[in-house]
This record gives sequence, structure tokens and C-alpha cells, in this order.
Amino acid sequence: MVIVMTPAATEDELAGVVRHIEAHGGQAFVSRGVTRTIVGVVGSEQVLETLDADGLPGVADTKRITAPYKLVSADNHTKRSTVRVGGVPIGPDTFTLIAGPCAVETPDQTLQSALLAKRAGATLLRGGAYKPRTSPYAFQGLALDGLKILSEVRAETGLPIVTEVLDVTDVDDVAEYADMLQVGARNMQNFGLLQAMGSVGKPVMLKRGLSATYEEWLMAAEYIAQRGNLDVVLCERGIRSYEPSIRNTFDVSAVPMIQALSHLPIIVDPSHAAGRRDLVVPLARAGIAAGADGVMVDVHPDPETALVDGAQALNGASLDELAEAVATLPALMGRTSAAHLAG
Ligand code: PEP
Ligand code: MN
Repeated sequence: MVIVMTPAATEDELAGVVRHIEAHGGQAFVSRGVTRTIVGVVGSEQVLETLDADGLPGVADTKRITAPYKLVSADNHTKRSTVRVGGVPIGPDTFTLIAGPCAVETPDQTLQSALLAKRAGATLLRGGAYKPRTSPYAFQGLALDGLKILSEVRAETGLPIVTEVLDVTDVDDVAEYADMLQVGARNMQNFGLLQAMGSVGKPVMLKRGLSATYEEWLMAAEYIAQRGNLDVVLCERGIRSYEPSIRNTFDVSAVPMIQALSHLPIIVDPSHAAGRRDLVVPLARAGIAAGADGVMVDVHPDPETALVDGAQALNGASLDELAEAVATLPALMGRTSAAHLAG
């Protein structure tokens, strides 16, 4: 069961609802979103039937939700949610471009990438300081030094930062610098990390696992919501298939399916889906046409020398093509570009 508080509900009223649930033998999980607070109730059938929370002060509504993911389900949501990242909206009315280097390598490379991103219409900067690499011999990222570079580039360009957290032990460091924390595909079911995202106090981007079903992905989002954070954006980044010529198979169906199942925003990452530059813009267009709330792409000032994922990084003509797509297509889908909102 979920209990939806009124927008004007006070902390005392919220505490009263939590006490009421606990007095009836249930467990209460408070989740705070941008527009409202929801209390998830876990308990036996008898607890839920006798709870009678409808008339309590500050309560707008109580709902029984049949989906296994209660807090992120689309059930009883008339409108999908908007998540704000350093003031930049990601949601159903807008279109948001996130761009930047796969990995932070040097201050200059990061700044040049951010300027390319901005020129293409991005309002958020991506860049990994902690990199999940298949090989332990590959560049693992600059860690804390990388976070510091990102924050200097944010100060210079005004672009809020999206960056990955790989491990529970790094959460505090990453949260100190990031505007949004990314949980990567390989960590989608790292339940300890998901739980830590519940109390991180910043929005989270949750990438789809390499072979995750929609339900597994939404249950992973539910972990974050159930621990207190409703500001979760889902990111489709391609799934493992049997086709070896592309890195992953971009599942465009994920966009309308997730929007039918959940109220959370969903964006697409055509760079990590394709793994090759020439496919990134066509897949980005497909994502926008399918109704994605945003697109995230890798860019690099000199892809030939990139330490990570240079083959998929946009630059020059390919980036101009992306800029053209994000300047024209979202409007056809009834969306305002976040770049225009930022002025
Ligand atoms: C990334 O965005 O840099 C990344 C590692 O993505 P994924 O987790 O989707 O592979
Ligand atoms: Mn990458």
C-alpha cells in the first residue's frame, strides 16, 4: 500500500502517519519526491486491511498497488514525474541532452568536452571519474581527482554534473561533487549500492543491466525509492544480444513500455548501446521519436586518443548532426528543449 501525502502536509503530520502505521504492526518507508511525499507501507494483509489511514491529517490518498514495484509504478499516477538535476528538468514536458566524455582524463579534455556538449545543446555534463572496466588493466578513472576536475568544469561552464558511483565506499565522495549519481549497467542489481542511493540526497540515474528485464530494472529503482529517494531517472543503454557487430542492442521498446509501467522519467544512451559513432545519431533519433525524456551521449575533443570508448564518441560532423536532431525533433514530440528553458 502507498499513502500519498498532500503537497501541504507538515513534518508532524508525516510523523503521525508513520506512528499510525507502526502502531498497527506495519513498516513505513518515506519517499520524498519533488512534488510530493509518499509513504510505502509493508505489512501483512491484516495490517493493510485494518490500517484505515484515509482520514489522517495530511493524507491525500491511500492506494493498494498490485505491481511488485509499488513506489515507482505508474498505477494511480495521472502524470509522469519530473526529476530536477541542479535545476535542469528531466520529465514528460521537456527534452534534456546530457553529453560529455566517457571518462574524465585531464582538466583540458574535460573542459573541451563540456564546451562541445554545450554547443550541441546539452544542459547536463556527463563524465566518469570511477570507471567500470571489463579489464583490470584498463584505465580505471581518476577517482577523486576526476571529481575535482568535473566540479571545476561545472564552475566554468555552468553545467551540472552526472557521474557514476561504482562502490558503496565512494558514495559520500561522489555525492559531495555530483549533481546526479549514475548507477551503471553492471551495478543495476548491486542492492547495497541501490539502498545507499536511497539516502544520498541527490537524484540518481539508474542504467538498465546488460540482461535485465523491465521488471528487474523497475525493482532496482524500487530499492532506491523504498529507501527514501524518488528522484530516479531510468536509462536504456542497450542489452546483450547475439549480434556481435554492435556493442549492445538498443531496445527502443523500453521507452514506451517503461512509460506505461512507471511514472519515472526515462532517457536513452545510444553511445553505450551502439559502441560505434556512425550509429549514435540514428539511435538517438529513434529514442526521441519513441518518446524518451532525454538522450545521453559520449563526446570527446579528440576521440582517437580517448582512454575509454573513443570509437563511440561524437565530434565534428557527427556532433553537428546530433545537435540538429535535438534542436528539431523534440518539438515535434510536443517537448520544450531544456536548453531553451535554461535560456
Ligand atoms: C557509462 O555511461 O560511462 C557507462 C559505463 O555506461 P554503462 O554502465 O551503461 O555501461
Ligand atoms: Mn563508456
